[in-house]
Amino acid sequence: MENECSVPTACIDERQFSIVTTGKNKSRIHCADDSLAGAVSQRACVYSGARVVLNPVTDAVHLVHGPIGCAAYTWDIRGSLSSGPEMFRQSFSTDLKERDVVFGGEKKLVACIDEVVGKYHPPAIFVYATCVVGLIGDDIVAVCKEASGRHGIDVIPVESSGFLSGNKIVGYRAAGEALLKLIRPKDGETVEKTRKLNFLGEYNLGGEKWLVERYLREMGIEINVAFTGDSTVAALKRAPGACLNLVQCSGSMHWVAMNLEKEYGTPYIDVNFFGAANTAESLRRIARFYGDEEIVRRTEALIEREMERVRPVVEKYRARLAGKRAAIYVGGAFKALAIIRQLQELGMEVVFTGTQTGKQEDYEQIGAIVSEGTVVIDDANPAEIEKFLLEKDVDMMAGGVKERFLAHKLGIGFVDHNHDRKDGLAGFDGAIRFAREVYATTCSPVWERVKKNPFEEAEG
Ligand code: SF4
Repeated sequence: MENECSVPTACIDERQFSIVTTGKNKSRIHCADDSLAGAVSQRACVYSGARVVLNPVTDAVHLVHGPIGCAAYTWDIRGSLSSGPEMFRQSFSTDLKERDVVFGGEKKLVACIDEVVGKYHPPAIFVYATCVVGLIGDDIVAVCKEASGRHGIDVIPVESSGFLSGNKIVGYRAAGEALLKLIRPKDGETVEKTRKLNFLGEYNLGGEKWLVERYLREMGIEINVAFTGDSTVAALKRAPGACLNLVQCSGSMHWVAMNLEKEYGTPYIDVNFFGAANTAESLRRIARFYGDEEIVRRTEALIEREMERVRPVVEKYRARLAGKRAAIYVGGAFKALAIIRQLQELGMEVVFTGTQTGKQEDYEQIGAIVSEGTVVIDDANPAEIEKFLLEKDVDMMAGGVKERFLAHKLGIGFVDHNHDRKDGLAGFDGAIRFAREVYATTCSPVWERVKKNPFEEAEG
C-alpha cells in the first residue's frame, strides 16, 4: 500500500509529506520545520548547530553552560584546521549539577568565566546556553554583559538551548547573531573598506579554506577573513572592511550575509567549491565581480590548468562507475547539490537524496537536476535511510558520520562528506580525491562478500 507520496506505509504516517518521489508527487516537500517527536532525526540539536558554526574561531574560548553531557559535543567536532591558535580545541563547561538546577547556575558561570580569563586570557568567550539553562532561566545575557565590562573582552552569549526548536538551523541563527555582535564596531571604532573579501560558510575542514585562498591569491584577490574556518577574534572584527562576501554554506551563513549587507553595505554572492565545475564557476563569478581584466585572465589560466588535471581522472573513473546507483544524505543543500553534480559527472545515477536543513527553494533545485523517480527526503531518520538504500538498490552513499554505519551494515559503499573529515574535498584537488574515493568504495570487492539485506538472510 502506498500513501500520497508513494512511500510504503512502513514509514511513520506524519513523515509522508517530507518524502517525495520526483515525477510522481504533485505536492511540495514539507521541510524547514521541527523534527517529528520520536522519529529519531539524523539532525543534531540547536546547541550543536551553533557550536559547529562558531567552533572554528581558533583563539576564542567556547564555554558550554550546562551539564557536562552537552560538552560531549565539543572536542574536534569539525576537522577545522588552524594556522595558529589552538584554544578552540580545548573543552570548557560549567558542569551544572542538580544543586545548580535548583538554585540557579549564574554564580557558577561567573566563576567559570573569571577562572578562564585568569588562566587563558582569551580575546573573547562564547557562552553557549543549553537546554537546562533555558529551563532554569539563567540570565546569560546579563552575566556575559557584566563579565565583558569586568574583563574588557567580548563575552558573547549564544542563545542555543537545545529545546528551542527541533531544527538545528535555529542554532545556526544563534551563532550568526553572536558573530554579528562580535564584529560590530564599538563606539568610536571604524573599519576601513578594502579590496579583500570575506568567505562565509567556510570552515577550513582539512585545510579547504587554505586551498581556495591559494586559488584566489593566484587570481590577485585576498581573503579578509573566513566565517569561521581558521579565523581569530581580531580578524573577524575586520569583517566590515571587506568589499564582498562569498556565501558557501547558505544554511548557516545566508542570514549573516544579508545582515552584513544591511549593516555595512557589503554585497554577497553564492559560491560552491565542491566539484571542479562548481569551483570553476565560482572563481569566474568572483573574477566578474572585481571586473578587472588581469584578474579575469589569471582566473581563466588557473581554471584551464586545473581542469586539465581533473578531466583525465574523472574520465578514468567514469568508465568504471557509469550506471552505478548513488544515495546522498548530508546536512546542507549546497553540499547535496554539489555532490549530485559530481556523481552525475562520474556517470552515476542519484536515486535517493536528502538533507537535514534544506529549504523549499533548495529542494526545487535538487528536483530539477535529479532524474525522475529519485526519492528526496527532508530530515530523514535511520529507518527511512535504510529502507530507501535497499529499495533503490544503492551501490554507494555519500553522507556524514551517522549515515556511514547504516550504509556499511547493508553492504553499501560509503564516502564520508562530514564536517569532521581530516582531508578536504573542496576545489580541483578535492574533486580528484572525491572521484578516487567514490571509485574505491563503490567498486570495492568487499561488498561481494557482504549480504545486502542481513534481515532477509536471518529470516531464511
Ligand atoms: S541537553 Fe539539550 S543542549 Fe545539551 S546536547 Fe542535549 S539537546 Fe543539546
